[in-house]
Amino acid sequence: MAEPTVVVVGGGLAGIAAALRAADRGCAVTLLESRPRLGGAAFSFRRGELTVDNGQHVFLRCCAAYRWFLDRVGGTELTTLQDRLDIPVLAPGGRSGRLRRTSGVPAPAHLTAALAGYRLLSVADRARAVRGAVALRLLNPADPSLDRRTLGEYLRRHGQNDATIAALWGIVATATLNLGPDDASLALAAKVFRTGLLDSAAAADIGHATAPLGELHSVAAGAALAGAGVAVTLGARVETVGGGPVVRFRADGSVREVRPDAVVLAVPPRELFALAPALSGTAAAPARQLQTAPIVNVHVVYDRPVTDLPFAAGVGTPVQWVFDRTESSGLRRSRPGGQYLAVTVSAADDLIDVPARAIVDRFVAALAELFPRARRAEVLDAFVTRERHATFRQAAGTAPLRPGPDSGLPGVALAGAWTATGWPDTMESAVRSGVAAAQHILGVASSDLVEFAA
Ligand SMILES: Cc1cc2nc3c(=O)[nH]c(=O)nc-3n(C[C@H](O)[C@H](O)[C@H](O)COP(=O)(O)OP(=O)(O)OC[C@H]3O[C@@H](n4cnc5c(N)ncnc54)[C@H](O)[C@@H]3O)c2cc1C
Repeated sequence: MAEPTVVVVGGGLAGIAAALRAADRGCAVTLLESRPRLGGAAFSFRRGELTVDNGQHVFLRCCAAYRWFLDRVGGTELTTLQDRLDIPVLAPGGRSGRLRRTSGVPAPAHLTAALAGYRLLSVADRARAVRGAVALRLLNPADPSLDRRTLGEYLRRHGQNDATIAALWGIVATATLNLGPDDASLALAAKVFRTGLLDSAAAADIGHATAPLGELHSVAAGAALAGAGVAVTLGARVETVGGGPVVRFRADGSVREVRPDAVVLAVPPRELFALAPALSGTAAAPARQLQTAPIVNVHVVYDRPVTDLPFAAGVGTPVQWVFDRTESSGLRRSRPGGQYLAVTVSAADDLIDVPARAIVDRFVAALAELFPRARRAEVLDAFVTRERHATFRQAAGTAPLRPGPDSGLPGVALAGAWTATGWPDTMESAVRSGVAAAQHILGVASSDLVEFAA
């Protein structure tokens, strides 16, 4: 019998994962990506001598699917993962704290010492924070009623105040949900805090790429796809997906048509319904209502080192998170002695339309407040990257808008970090969704996901 033919539309992490999984299971897979590169929302570009990530991406030890993906594409060596969670937290005026888990201590006691010694909160607020952790641990992320509430409302109901929300819970929630605690879905927050922080001691150890994202998600992933026999066509914009299924796409100036056995649509919702209007009549239709939320990154290149920290979170400053990208960007080679910091601002609705000059001025000043050495350093380059549709807007009430892999159309599966994976819109969710979509079209039982156990 001929091997089943599968077309995957979209070469982000979801599409790549779906393609690899289907090819590994014996399908003849074609992947169509409209851009000239793979990697979707997590990519790099050149700026002079630098290789710049569009936005800093981190993962946690509990991200079993993304770590499977890294292994599958031979990319684990291009990342680093902490031995134990350790987040330096900086505030203006030289104040700082540290959120570090205690080695060898099981959850949730692994964070007790960190909270007890967290100097960015008063002693009373530290005790309050412990009560908040206990309350968060009571939540079941799978309880549908949680999605109708916000994290902020729940935290306040359980004794948390502005200080603990700003200096503790918000640091984690805003970065992982790309939305402030007062808007974010409590169900997704429960997933983050339980799976990521409170249920297992090692879960929240932080990982990130030590190479440009493009090396991982485009170069290494491209090689893995080729090795698996996947036919990848870049610059191929799919125009319609109709019943059959039949896929019409434009590549090299001409329109082509293919009729595979199955299609995986791994594109964001704002593209999806234009491609396949018939989806408006299926259970996937509510996804049209999903909105998006922006992330802004501010990149600053100094003539000298201004900090020894690999990364830090900020409190009382517009610098939500800052990462040292000196090594991974190639600055170390092109400008020995310089330092490149990338600031991440999530839930950046207030910043997304501000002119670059104003953003740079504000953040160069904010970095100087956090890092005294930056006050004497010369800024060699500073620029802004904006992702207006970085993630879907992970507000209360969005769980029913996220369909599973079954599109409702015969032979067509859905994938994407925005689909119903139980995870926030992250690389982990993207990979899980791709694997689930491949399994859906192959008819493989979900118990096959066992390799993703955290
Ligand atoms: C700045 C930023 C920072 C982030 N930080 C983190 C982080 O720290 N940790 C984390 O886990 N996640 C982070 N994320 C989220 C993460 O990047 C996404 O969840 C994930 O990459 C989404 O993958 P995806 O495959 O679902 O979708 P996408 O990456 O959006 O891929 C969809 C692909 O489909 C293609 N496409 C669309 N229409 C067509 C068409 N008609 N024909 C052919 N191809 C088409 C697109 O070009 C794209 O390549 C961040 C995102 C951004 C933007």
